[in-house]
Amino acid sequence: MKFISIDKNDWTRGIDKSREKYQLFGPVKDENGCLIKKLEPDVQPDMGLHESVMSAKSVVFPQTEKILNASLDESIENHHIMQRAKTDYSPRAVLGIRPYDAKAMELVKLNFDTKDFKDPYWCDAYEATVFVGLGITKPGPFDFSTSVGTGPFCEDGLDVLLADLDDTYLAKILSPKGEAYTAACGFNAIVDEKESQALFDILRKEAEKNIVSQVKIDKLKEKTILELHEADFWDDIAFACINCGTCTYVCPTCWCFDIQDETKQKQATRFRNWDTCMSPLFTRHATGHNPRGTKVQRVRQRFMHKLKYFLDKYDQGIMCVGCGRCVKSCPVNIDIREVCHMMNSYEKQD
Ligand code: SF4
Ligand code: SF4
Repeated sequence: MKFISIDKNDWTRGIDKSREKYQLFGPVKDENGCLIKKLEPDVQPDMGLHESVMSAKSVVFPQTEKILNASLDESIENHHIMQRAKTDYSPRAVLGIRPYDAKAMELVKLNFDTKDFKDPYWCDAYEATVFVGLGITKPGPFDFSTSVGTGPFCEDGLDVLLADLDDTYLAKILSPKGEAYTAACGFNAIVDEKESQALFDILRKEAEKNIVSQVKIDKLKEKTILELHEADFWDDIAFACINCGTCTYVCPTCWCFDIQDETKQKQATRFRNWDTCMSPLFTRHATGHNPRGTKVQRVRQRFMHKLKYFLDKYDQGIMCVGCGRCVKSCPVNIDIREVCHMMNSYEKQD
């Protein structure tokens, strides 16, 4: 494994150099808090911001995305035939993300990039993206990442992992994409592998010690879907929910979307927009029937999907990286850690 030392005095110059080949995204603070945004040429990532309200999900899966176009002009060849919309999939790097947000991409990949089906929009954007994470040295109070198999220095899904050493960044290069990106920045001060790994291990252990929040997921697998579905706690959990959808929009692993067609004069466009299983409209059929018409059905679906269906289907843990964003953002304090505890410890009463 290769490690590079980056003097912070060279950081801005280096990432500016990389703009010749890469579009850049990174943490920026605005009136809504810290968001991961496209960095225009005069904007630098704010590497001091660990608590991004939103993850890097939108870099690969935009909130609104044109996917197909058709001309309605009958004088044009191929009119009324949908064609894939032109999208820029040139290389992009997303800098300074929380490490487990890249792990979240790997979980989402299980849905969008399968043996039988590939979502071309998501796959092309994912392929074009380099993920540069920054190890979290001071985890927040909502972070329960270590108990779900990720953590503040999790490397899964990352191309480069940075550790902040005050005057320098120590960069661990994790993939050929990461290698190409650091080369494009001109970062090439290779340092000793053994010493660097030892330093990473110390920082990781220190950070992990500060994570006090945990969930237990060890018994979820052995429960049957039916017993959890029929458990008596769902009404209580759902009672306060206002179906705002915030928990799903901030979640790096939520992938629900809706398709909408719009026409403007002779041009038709098909869009894909983020949607949420918490909205009654999400499942309402054209007939008016809604298989998840009540709030309790929708709340149950969100937690059953994350903590049971996903676990059973893929056998790769739960559909949650423990970032705590949904806990922090829910206006009525519905807490996935508590729901997970209820599900994991549930015993059906005869
Ligand atoms: S953020 Fe809270 S209130 Fe809003 S939909 Fe999610 S659980 Fe319900
Ligand atoms: S803590 Fe909440 S927002 Fe974060 S990954 Fe888990 S479900 Fe999603």
